[in-house]
Amino acid sequence: MADQTLARYVNELNVLTLLRTKGPTSRASLSRQLELTPATMSRLVGEMARRGLLREADGSPNNPDSRAPGRPGVEIGIDPGGAAFLGVEIGVGIVRFCLLDLAAAPVDTAQTKVAPDIAPDAVVKMIARHVEKLRRSPRHGAKIRAIGVTVPGLVTLDGDVVHLPILGWRDVNLRARLSDAVGMPCFVENNATAAAFGAVYTQPSLQKDCAIFLKLGAGCGGAAIVNGRLLRGAAGTAGEFGHMRIAGSGRLCHCGQRGCLETTVNLAAMARLFNSAAPEADPAHIQLPEEMAVAARRRDPAALRALASLRRHLGLGLVTLVNIFNPSTIVLGGVMRPMIELCLDQLRDTVAKGIVPGTLVPEIRMSALGIFECAVGAAAVAHHHSFDIANFDFSQRELAFSPPAAP
Ligand SMILES: [Zn+2]
Repeated sequence: MADQTLARYVNELNVLTLLRTKGPTSRASLSRQLELTPATMSRLVGEMARRGLLREADGSPNNPDSRAPGRPGVEIGIDPGGAAFLGVEIGVGIVRFCLLDLAAAPVDTAQTKVAPDIAPDAVVKMIARHVEKLRRSPRHGAKIRAIGVTVPGLVTLDGDVVHLPILGWRDVNLRARLSDAVGMPCFVENNATAAAFGAVYTQPSLQKDCAIFLKLGAGCGGAAIVNGRLLRGAAGTAGEFGHMRIAGSGRLCHCGQRGCLETTVNLAAMARLFNSAAPEADPAHIQLPEEMAVAARRRDPAALRALASLRRHLGLGLVTLVNIFNPSTIVLGGVMRPMIELCLDQLRDTVAKGIVPGTLVPEIRMSALGIFECAVGAAAVAHHHSFDIANFDFSQRELAFSPPAAP
């Protein structure tokens, strides 16, 4: 029984993943690509259509007779409304929400200002209220399957928030508290790691590959995504790219070391170079990069100094990352975006000339997700978890995408 259930589970996930990443196709093509008999594929597609997960690609309603012979050439696609996944970014002074549909496209975003030192319980209550609001909406209703949350700090594999000095949290098991409050699977992830995952996961062409994401703002973090999966490390804290030591000395970093990349490219470093009257940047001062970029375009000397420093230090960091990971793509995100855009071509040049000769020169691009990148990433983590065969639970009789129980 377990073997049959596992086989069906794998087949369903493969159908959903194939349709999400490659777009609608016919049952015949699906059965060829997944090496299933046409009869098995027809039965599978029919069952999934009845559960609201698939529909005919022209947008026609779910067809209960879709396994009937005579319609084998009709293209099948994901029904985006079949399930939803909520992502939450807990930032400094702000909480952002993003809902992804079953096709992993954002369908709803919201943000709320909060106290910069908000307590974990208050955040859990806020998320639970937002979930209730979404559940009451006729559009998304009971279809939310899982929640992903990001925090600006270290998170272990089990969702314990290890170190969150920026909010004053320590040893908070956010995942357990939130799961209890909302009654559905929850996942907690570092903000830059989740943003990295979202930037790649929502770009299906990048998934089979090695991509590096670097997020620059109040801090500097990132992640490597290899073959569609986050490189997590032994305890889940991999990707602290900002603490790559690019100099033997330099400003003291909050990690206790000197010479970390983060201390040269974060908001505070830019603020020091741009405006000596404000030596320590407010971490929430997200307008600063835009102000600096405007000033740099009119050749303001302080802004050009900041830009030159960013270009030099970020270039060093990128060269090291390329030498270590051999990525095909580097995605740059975070609030530093307006400044990075001004030196993107020079960064590409620095990388091409600085990496080990013979190494593939990666494409370097800006993230397309904007200010909701962490919330999108958090939702993508939840979405991916539901598609990940590693999460198959033999004790469950229901499949991952079974219709939700009636309230
Ligand atoms: Zn450091």
